[in-house]
Amino acid sequence: MSAISRLEQPGSQAPLGEALLLVGDFWNVLVLQSVFLGARRFQNIRDQLSISDSVLSRRLSSLTEAGVIDTSPYQDRPVRLEYRLTDAGTALWDVLVAMWAWDRHWITGRHRLSEVDLQHLDCANLTRPVFGCGSCGAIGVTARDVSSTADDQLWASLVRRRGRRSVIATEAASSTGILGDQWSILVLAEALQGSRHFGEFQSRLGVSPVTLNNRLSAFVSRGVMTRSSVTDGARRQVYRLTPRGLDFFSITSMINRWAQHWLADDGRTGLTITHLACGEQIQPQLTCNACNGRLTREAIRFESEGTPLATSWTRDRLTSAPA
Ligand SMILES: [Zn+2]
Ligand SMILES: [Zn+2]
Repeated sequence: MSAISRLEQPGSQAPLGEALLLVGDFWNVLVLQSVFLGARRFQNIRDQLSISDSVLSRRLSSLTEAGVIDTSPYQDRPVRLEYRLTDAGTALWDVLVAMWAWDRHWITGRHRLSEVDLQHLDCANLTRPVFGCGSCGAIGVTARDVSSTADDQLWASLVRRRGRRSVIATEAASSTGILGDQWSILVLAEALQGSRHFGEFQSRLGVSPVTLNNRLSAFVSRGVMTRSSVTDGARRQVYRLTPRGLDFFSITSMINRWAQHWLADDGRTGLTITHLACGEQIQPQLTCNACNGRLTREAIRFESEGTPLATSWTRDRLTSAPA
């Protein structure tokens, strides 16, 4: 069944849309990061993020409903719960690593994860992940090396289904800030597919001119896009992704892969990203820039000033490794 006909089924799902809603929510991402970095209990997460009880409760409920975390009691009377990543949640590790890498590379000045380093345990070096294609083993694949095809209807249906929903991004310069609004990532995905003119974005997304103008202007002010005027008949504004905007493609392709695997019944999300060199659908993978070895969930560790931060995906390694 095509993505379009799936979307026309009553109650059907838009897997990429669900994934974008999940990681396109600023607080969802911060709560997930916090659980990844070892926080298990409500008060730990709340204190780490300086988040209100009601906002945290809502996000924990929606993350649980989405199947990326679950709970187990650690105390009977009164009952208190610990939050843990499910398999689907654990599989978001490379999305979060890609977001961390983007922030480290492109955001100057202090931000939430600026003090956190990533160590590759296989070579013991601090690493900067390099994006590549697992289908052919190429390392250093960029947005210029791929072609993306999405059916227009997918985006349009997504927008119709979800309507407007946005959150306040308090860390607007970081990747979570860019993802922190559903419209923002839809506009960005369109730009990565090659849209440049205001009218192209508008007709493909079915977004109001005011909303679209807000998001494009925000991208320009954050250095993700440039805006210039061209005259071909009528005077038009052209938006082009900057290198930091193009680099965001690694994050969107990882989100897409995760949605294909964990949310789509038939492995399809409506967005296909093809690696031009090998002609295969890209299988995103991260490689260590120090040793060229592939980064795996078990062989990386976040640390701050040399002190390991416990992470759920390195739990086994940490307990079996010598102190
Ligand atoms: Zn390839
Ligand atoms: Zn390495």
